[in-house]
Amino acid sequence: MKKNLLYTKSQSWIKKFNNLLIISGPCSAENEKQVLETAKRIDKKYVQVFRSGIWKPRTRPNNFEGIGEIGFNWLKKVKEKFKFLIAIEIANSKHVEIALKHNVVDIFWIGARSTVNPFTVQEIAESLSGTDKIVLVKNPINPDLELWIGSLERLINKNINNIGVIHRGFSNFGKSKYRNNPYWKIALEFKKNLPNIPIICDPSHISGNKKYIYELSKKAIIDFGFNGLMIESHCNPSKALSDANQQIIPEKVSEIVELLKIELNQEKKYKILDLFRYQIDEIDENIISLLYERSNVSKNIGKFKKRNNINIIQSKRWEKIINNFNDLKEILGYSENFKKFIDELYKIIHDNSIFIQKNIKL
Ligand code: PEP
Ligand code: MN
Repeated sequence: MKKNLLYTKSQSWIKKFNNLLIISGPCSAENEKQVLETAKRIDKKYVQVFRSGIWKPRTRPNNFEGIGEIGFNWLKKVKEKFKFLIAIEIANSKHVEIALKHNVVDIFWIGARSTVNPFTVQEIAESLSGTDKIVLVKNPINPDLELWIGSLERLINKNINNIGVIHRGFSNFGKSKYRNNPYWKIALEFKKNLPNIPIICDPSHISGNKKYIYELSKKAIIDFGFNGLMIESHCNPSKALSDANQQIIPEKVSEIVELLKIELNQEKKYKILDLFRYQIDEIDENIISLLYERSNVSKNIGKFKKRNNINIIQSKRWEKIINNFNDLKEILGYSENFKKFIDELYKIIHDNSIFIQKNIKL
């Protein structure tokens, strides 16, 4: 990879936030009262930047899609009254043009749905060209590190030099604990490749659920040394027009940041061990999800066999599976002992499949 400014320039802007940038505020600006009440209740001791969506990229149309330009008047009041810096999402050059005209935004972020599209990122980079505003890029919704890094290169190429990223997790298919899979490995890979680029975590969009905000924040800040958090807060979360499940009251944000600051000041024992353990936990969660998915497929096979009078045990099929494992041994190059372990494990998995299929009732 070519080592350009992206890899060499230090992002000194993060030092102004003591290396712990805390952004909070509602998912969306809904009305003046909600914006001002939320801002009033956010404690400046813990939060430096007020966030709010003005234009909302919703998955399905006909939902609340953001209040639009009028919201800037409310953000101006937040800035004047409570002295917060202001952050909003921009998704095209029109947004940039309108936001710059109102001259109230200090930090722009590019949303996950925009980062996936190089045309969009290029358009935004061109319209912000040469700005000294801070621009944060959320990870793309698909787990693609190159695409994420590429979007930063587009900004640097347009002489946008105060940059950072936001880790907000990646799209899931099917049921899982979080709304978006954190795939910490990708964020850690990012940190390893680009240690000079500040990375903050958005536990709200990873979790999709207020009860996981603290555990995710702790992982990011304490275990992985992220440079900050973006946490959605709302004066009345259950009535929020977007992302109601994941927004917390402003007082809760203070509580979380206070706890993290206490943790940060404590001695960090077992740090390396924990790093490995989180990797193991993530892998284990994936193994269990896959085994569950596998047992469902096996059930469908069982039903099909029963309906069509096919024997449950098909010896040719079994041979083919075992041979596939031999190929994998060659490709991955693992030891005879590991192969023995996989064979034994697979026997258990296969026996379970047979058990499932024998117990099928149509
Ligand atoms: C948001 O921050 O409100 C948002 C829409 O986030 P994301 O791009 O991560 O979905
Ligand atoms: Mn949101």
